[in-house]
Amino acid sequence: APEPVTAPAAVLPYQDASLPVPDRVTDLLSRMTLDDKLGQMTQIEKDALVPQSDLAAYRIGSVLSGGDSTVSPNNAQTWADTYDSLQRTALATPLGIPVIYGIDAVHGHNAVRGATLFPHNIGLGATRDPALVQRIGRAVAEEVSGTGIDWDFAPCLCVARDDRWGRTYESYGETPELPSALTTFVTGLQGDTLGAGPAPVLATAKHYLGDGGTAGGVDQGDTRLSEADLRAVHLPPFKEAVRRGVGSVMLSYSSWNGVRSHANTYLVTDVLKGELGFTGFVVSDWAAVDQLDGQSGFTGAEIATAVNAGVDMVMVPHDYKKFLTLLRGEVTAGRIAPSRIDDANRRILTQKFRLGLFERPLTDRSYTATVGSAAHRELARQAVRASQVLLKNDGGVLPLPKSARLFVAGKSADDIGNQSGGWTVGWQGRSGPVTDGTTILQGIRAAVTDPSRVTYDRYGNGIGSGYHAAVAVVGETPYAEGRGDRPGGLGLDQEDLQTLARLKASGVPVVVVLVSGRPLDVSAQLPDWKALLAAWLPGTEGAGVADVLFGDHAPTGKLPVSWPRTSAQEPVNDGDGKDPLFRYGYGLTYSGADPTPTPTPAACTARLRTVASWPGGHQAEVTVENTGSAALTGWSVTWDLGGTRVTNLWNGSLTTAGGRATVRNTAANGLLPPGGTTSFGFTAEGSAATPAPDCAGS
Ligand code: BGC
Repeated sequence: APEPVTAPAAVLPYQDASLPVPDRVTDLLSRMTLDDKLGQMTQIEKDALVPQSDLAAYRIGSVLSGGDSTVSPNNAQTWADTYDSLQRTALATPLGIPVIYGIDAVHGHNAVRGATLFPHNIGLGATRDPALVQRIGRAVAEEVSGTGIDWDFAPCLCVARDDRWGRTYESYGETPELPSALTTFVTGLQGDTLGAGPAPVLATAKHYLGDGGTAGGVDQGDTRLSEADLRAVHLPPFKEAVRRGVGSVMLSYSSWNGVRSHANTYLVTDVLKGELGFTGFVVSDWAAVDQLDGQSGFTGAEIATAVNAGVDMVMVPHDYKKFLTLLRGEVTAGRIAPSRIDDANRRILTQKFRLGLFERPLTDRSYTATVGSAAHRELARQAVRASQVLLKNDGGVLPLPKSARLFVAGKSADDIGNQSGGWTVGWQGRSGPVTDGTTILQGIRAAVTDPSRVTYDRYGNGIGSGYHAAVAVVGETPYAEGRGDRPGGLGLDQEDLQTLARLKASGVPVVVVLVSGRPLDVSAQLPDWKALLAAWLPGTEGAGVADVLFGDHAPTGKLPVSWPRTSAQEPVNDGDGKDPLFRYGYGLTYSGADPTPTPTPAACTARLRTVASWPGGHQAEVTVENTGSAALTGWSVTWDLGGTRVTNLWNGSLTTAGGRATVRNTAANGLLPPGGTTSFGFTAEGSAATPAPDCAGS
């Protein structure tokens, strides 16, 4: 008798990778129950999934790790094991739909200890280099893939309009052009076509729409703008991300003229999905749906509002049982149409298919070794260099000679946590050795010819004369989101002020490296500093800062945001007619290096008045205000004592653009003869091409 022919294992159409994705989606949808579909729309925090078998029981479609989620021990292997274990649970359901796992890898795979951490977005904005940002996106995708994770809640395409906002550092810059240009991060993560290249990771354009425009820079606040202004300032980066094929968009907690994004059908369904033609899926922000009524705890009405507005997946993230019960209730009561549920599923499943999750659901361990690899750290160091913005360099104190005796101080000189900022092995980040990398001090020691000539004291104690320069690394300590809002102003903290005062008292020229997520209020201290380098939040590769300090690479970064004179000037943005301390796009380089800074016109006004007069003469006073955007230095007042000219050299606060100074005649015991003349003049710093401004007078 003939042998029975063994039929090949049945391959259902949705399992057949040779079929077009839309056909696979249609087939799969036809096999799904309502509960299967509702589960796909549900995203749960990994740590809230107890027991893990609930993933299968509730047909959960997505898991995330929020800012504080971790594994123990915190390394790439354990993350990958955790991922694979969850994925195997999902695959064991009747239809075997893989789970999609999202994480906030916002400046590298920042939840994982030992990962390469790149400059936060504000530093990348300063590079103005779309190709570099694309390469960073690719490196992040490799590290994320090495832990199995499929989806990155990045890039933040917020246009940060007020530096008091705690998420300013997550922004590439204050103009629509910069974030639009740097949407290359999307193609870096996903590849040019999602799934066509190796190690694809789904990108998220967030937070839609207007998160960076809230009144007062209040996180999750209200963006009060006309529709024309909202579209002109905040929409362009999303348009560009959609053009690049971004797979998901996360909505903003914020409101537009009082309406929450998560409830805004016009912005989400009409504009994003309709007008912009976005075919990916919309995910809510963390617990944003259950906040819609201003109280915590889900209601069916909130869920219906959000889903009907166009939310496809809800980041629950904890109480999934309640969420699913309520969601089901809204559907069976007819308040959410089955077609809306199908549309959401179609969108989510399309991205899962395109990612290749059905064919390659488990971690590709060949990428695990890329986490923190030398090649990625070298790329990050390059990005750090390119992100440095030189704001002041009096007398060419920078670059520092490598053989000089240097004193290094400041709370962020030797602190990986501070230089990495928020979203670093924990939501808020923290000071200290939180992960592996090179501190700025270590970078300095590695760069000099003789490390024993570098003295370090965090507080600046023990500095004396004999140092070529003191490098003060000061600024902000880590924070994230609303906890970083600073409505009260952006001044330096007490520790920094005291450290800087000690350095100043020594008479050693002070070079300040500012480690911060945004411009700080430095007008009052700037005259004391020879140089100011904005390092932003460079991440784990502090050596990139040293590369610039010692001139191995000239600074090329340009300000991605206007630098206000004082916090009270906020909001201050390019083209608003205000007069910032340093304008958007400003950035010096070393003389002879390319590119040269655009010379800024120097300008000033001066007023001469007689303070007192006596029969034999008078005392005079000159008040000068720097009204330009270039620093003025070395100005002098010459008093004419009846033929003898006496010059008072003054280097006061006019080195600060915007500064004002008054100098009174002290020559001849303060007595100028009648009829004497007084003259004064200036030279402008950093712009040899610009003539000394015309505010001489007599
Ligand atoms: C943030 C998002 C983030 C989400 C998940 C929220 O608090 O606003 O940017 O993606 O948490 O961690």
